[in-house]
Amino acid sequence: MTTPHARTHEPHTESGAALGRRDAMLAMGALGAAAFAPRALAQVNETDRALAQGGRGIISARDLGWDPEARRYILPELRYAYDALEPHIDAATMEIHHSRHHAGYVSGLNKALDELAKIRKGEGDAGLIKHWSREVSFHGGGHVNHTLFWLTMGPKDFIAESPSLELLAHMERDFGSMNGFWTHFEAAANAVEGSGWAWLVYEPNAGRLLITQMEKQQDLWMTGAAPLLGVDVWEHAYYLRYQNRRGDYVKAFRNVVNWAMVDELFAIARGV
Ligand code: MN
Repeated sequence: MTTPHARTHEPHTESGAALGRRDAMLAMGALGAAAFAPRALAQVNETDRALAQGGRGIISARDLGWDPEARRYILPELRYAYDALEPHIDAATMEIHHSRHHAGYVSGLNKALDELAKIRKGEGDAGLIKHWSREVSFHGGGHVNHTLFWLTMGPKDFIAESPSLELLAHMERDFGSMNGFWTHFEAAANAVEGSGWAWLVYEPNAGRLLITQMEKQQDLWMTGAAPLLGVDVWEHAYYLRYQNRRGDYVKAFRNVVNWAMVDELFAIARGV
């Protein structure tokens, strides 16, 4: 990969930004197995400094949308400017998507957790526990999905344009070839019914890669699957530039995938 000089924000080096094992478990625990494989959490414990150097092991708590000091979910900063993914994803879409849609999921998740805490103390309406639990899944899913979406994209001079040899070998074993992967992934994304996502995931029991669809921010998920690469196919992700041409947007998405980060998530998912 090339040096990510297009980064527009300083690396998150505040004390406590790196996620310890216990904090990682707490940070992601509310999101359940659907969000991250438990084994992955133990590995998310280093700063993102190494990433800027082209290294590995480098996803901080703030990168994952968690403030370990305030113990609240937060909107993660992008590592690139809103217009950095032009012409594939337009600046207006990026700004609205990140600063409004994603921010809404963060506040919805924190709100749901606050309401559940009130119920535990006997101060809330216990009859609403089903409602707030569903809100955790929806907004928590939205928060994690978008956090990973921003992490695994980048501008041309920032990204690795192909997977590591190790990930490539798994892709070829499980999908036949990279072309096979993209054909399957794009078809899955284009066929999501309504709002949702397509995902490349690592399934730890078999140790293989799968492509799955997701409806809304959480439905159709396979227990234990570790997300590696997702494309958001809600209309808010592409309608300003592509209108109803979801297929063109999904095809353009190929150009902004940062395979270095997908490699990293793959390593984390396997505990290596
Ligand atoms: Mn979205």
